[in-house]
Amino acid sequence: MLTKVAENIYRKTVPLPNNPLREINAYIIKGEKNLLIDTGFNRSECKEALQSAFDELGINKTDLFITHLHSDHCGLVPDFAAKTSTIYSSETDGELINFEVGNLYWRMLDDLFIKYGFPKADFGRNTDIHPGRKYCHKERVNFTYLSEGDSISYGGYNLKTILTPGHTPGHMCLYDSDKKVLFCGDHILGTITPNICIELSAENPLKDYLESLGKIEKLDVELLLTAHGTPVKNMYGRIKELYKHHEERLNEVIHILGKDEKTAYMVARDMTWEIDCKNWEEFPAPQKWFATGEAIAHLQYLYFSGRITRKEINGVYHYKL
Ligand SMILES: [Zn+2]
Repeated sequence: MLTKVAENIYRKTVPLPNNPLREINAYIIKGEKNLLIDTGFNRSECKEALQSAFDELGINKTDLFITHLHSDHCGLVPDFAAKTSTIYSSETDGELINFEVGNLYWRMLDDLFIKYGFPKADFGRNTDIHPGRKYCHKERVNFTYLSEGDSISYGGYNLKTILTPGHTPGHMCLYDSDKKVLFCGDHILGTITPNICIELSAENPLKDYLESLGKIEKLDVELLLTAHGTPVKNMYGRIKELYKHHEERLNEVIHILGKDEKTAYMVARDMTWEIDCKNWEEFPAPQKWFATGEAIAHLQYLYFSGRITRKEINGVYHYKL
């Protein structure tokens, strides 16, 4: 569905088949030059949906802005960028997006998860079924990197960049302070809590995330345009819920640790998850991966704030209260 959400701004819901997220919102700002914000996975269903929005709007050329490195946001960059298009991202995530092309990134990510207790046999050496890998773009992208506070103008909007690390190390939002519009990618979502997960260059992503929420909380925002789900009506109320969610998660992790020494994988197994599975064994492998990533983020936060200890046993981190 293509929806006009503000003057010159259109939201296209792009389907993500067989994915728990179900769809992604790609935004198109129409003007003298056009801007596409996020793309969908590199798969035909996404490409067709996005193309239909361009056809409907009568657009055949666009610049692109990618909020962050996940494949549901950048998978179709090569398909929608013309030779003369400018493709923006933060340097941190842009470099990771290009590193995702090829095997080394995924092998390093495998090793990272194994270090946090993810069993090698259980997907730890088999990330080709990871949706991020399967539906990734297949060629390097020639990005124009934006830094904190840079401005780009499209369709009458003067958009300033705001770095919001947490969901990914170089996640970036676009903000028009006059029109009070914020394109927030996956930094704030209405229906689900954004997944906070370890990445190659981020050791304490939850700390980064909470600080980034604090940064956004100070802005004057009337229209929040999220990358998944319907627009969030009250951003400030939603930020409070997200703080509370992570506080509860931190307490849950402490409770699960109890008196034992556990890996992040063991903690993830005992955490509560909103998923239609009877038990942990039934979780699809990619969901075990995301759950473990989330457990790691909370354990690392507790470790760096001195509330729990961490030690390496046979190359695997174990945490203890
Ligand atoms: Zn994401």
